Amino acid sequence: AISEKQSTGGSRILVFVRLRPTAKREKEGGSRSCVRIVNRREVYLTEFATENDYLRLKRLRGRHFTFDASFPDLTTQQEVYSTTTAELVEAVLQGRNGSVFCYGATGAGKTYTMLGTVENPGVMVLAIKDLFNQIRQRSCDSNHEVHLSYLEVYNETVRDLLSPGRPLVLREDKQGIVAHGLTQYRAYSTDEVMDLLLRGNQNRTTEPTHVNETSSRSHAILQEVSRFFMVEYRVKDASNNVVNRVGKLSLIDLAGSERALATDQRTLRSLEGANINRSLLALSSCINALVEGKKHVPYRNSKLTQLLKDSLGGACNTAYDANEEILQVPESETDQAKLLLELQK
Ligand code: ADP
Ligand code: MG
Repeated sequence: AISEKQSTGGSRILVFVRLRPTAKREKEGGSRSCVRIVNRREVYLTEFATENDYLRLKRLRGRHFTFDASFPDLTTQQEVYSTTTAELVEAVLQGRNGSVFCYGATGAGKTYTMLGTVENPGVMVLAIKDLFNQIRQRSCDSNHEVHLSYLEVYNETVRDLLSPGRPLVLREDKQGIVAHGLTQYRAYSTDEVMDLLLRGNQNRTTEPTHVNETSSRSHAILQEVSRFFMVEYRVKDASNNVVNRVGKLSLIDLAGSERALATDQRTLRSLEGANINRSLLALSSCINALVEGKKHVPYRNSKLTQLLKDSLGGACNTAYDANEEILQVPESETDQAKLLLELQK
């Protein structure tokens, strides 16, 4: 976890870990949680119940990991929102950009955290709710506008989930990188948002609902889908013509990380023929570059990182729900390219 002083204007990256409850199916299959929370900031990996888990994770056994905060499995959606994202909504109201993304293997709880359910709405919905509440509290004029976009990045193709059709082309203009023709839905209240997201999800590229760990590794042929929910907050002047302030919040339900990395020969083999998720690799190299304070951040390597360019570095805030794995990606682009080639053999 990295946090630069905000007063320097640098970006600040916070890393959180959320444990999800063990599913019934997992319990029945003999699995049990192998993560213990040591304290609010530290988690520890204990023994692994299944051989599969052992082989996959043995290099991590006994290691302690430190995060900006850890969330035990009973943590509420509201608590996750308050700790990870509420601060970013404040920043957006001040005209800054921020992004929050969820990283983890399929089944880790990313969609639950970001989108949630109608009964337990996740970060995307809670952020909008908070944004509208704050606007209402702060002002009595009507110069505040909230625009929502929802898109997916699948196989390096960008699609508008609110208005399905041809893939969108990314273009660079004076505001940064924009998805040309992307729907910007003007929202007036929170109520519309869950509905909008659920409707958008019906247009998404389907992903498998579960990974069957016991069956063959054929599930390695997962589809790579990242879903992006973008909120643009604008304040106009009294005449309602000139935009005075814009803040952007990007909330991203990333594609499952199982295809992002291959840390041993076994995984490498299981990924043969599969199309590795280039966006996730590119994202990790951008994060590494930002963390190390490098001048050159390789945003251009994927659609995902291009879209995030103005929300990762510079005058922005980033919160990040992740596990350690993402940091194990080779650092140099050359090594990543090699890894990509290896995986595509
Ligand atoms: P992912 O999007 O990472 O593939 P999901 O969000 O779909 O994973 O979660 C997998 C399953 O676990 C879903 O049935 C989801 O409802 C459930 N789940 C995930 N996180 C939680 C949680 N914190 N509390 C309760 N159920 C959860
Ligand atoms: Mg999901």
